[in-house]
Amino acid sequence: MPESKFLKKKRRFDSNNEHRIEPLFYQDNSDIPYNPRVERAVRDALERLSGTEREFVERFYLQGQSYPEIAESLNKGIGKVEGLHEIAIKKLRKYLAEFVKEEYDIEIKPAPKCILCASPSCNEINRLISSKRDGDTWQKTIRILKNKYQIIIKSPQSLIGHKKYHLEDYKDEK
Ligand SMILES: [Zn+2]
Repeated sequence: MPESKFLKKKRRFDSNNEHRIEPLFYQDNSDIPYNPRVERAVRDALERLSGTEREFVERFYLQGQSYPEIAESLNKGIGKVEGLHEIAIKKLRKYLAEFVKEEYDIEIKPAPKCILCASPSCNEINRLISSKRDGDTWQKTIRILKNKYQIIIKSPQSLIGHKKYHLEDYKDEK
């Protein structure tokens, strides 16, 4: 999504300590033309976040602060800050989906609800799942997921569902 590129540029700009918050978007000789509608949409989306979520986004993306810095300012643990990040991004994706569709004709899919699809190691996990032989039980896979990826699978049903319905995407990627 082009917004993130704008935000990254802004972060770089901030390292010069100029315009700490305003303007939201900084334009240099980027190949992406400045689009006031993007700025409007992102501002509106940010407004819809909770106060803490918005503060996280401003500190992380606009001011370029690190997790530990933000944790200290907000008086929260790192885990909570990670959680804030995840929720804020999920909400922004949702709030901006309609705008991105209208403006760029790009369909933003909601973040996957499946714990395996949502994992950053999804491709590795898919390889692991594909390597299970039909006669084997899921116990070994469940154990590896827990030990190596800290993913707790309560019932093999979620693995079977993922394999049956979600693995198609993985096959396309190969
Ligand atoms: Zn899945």
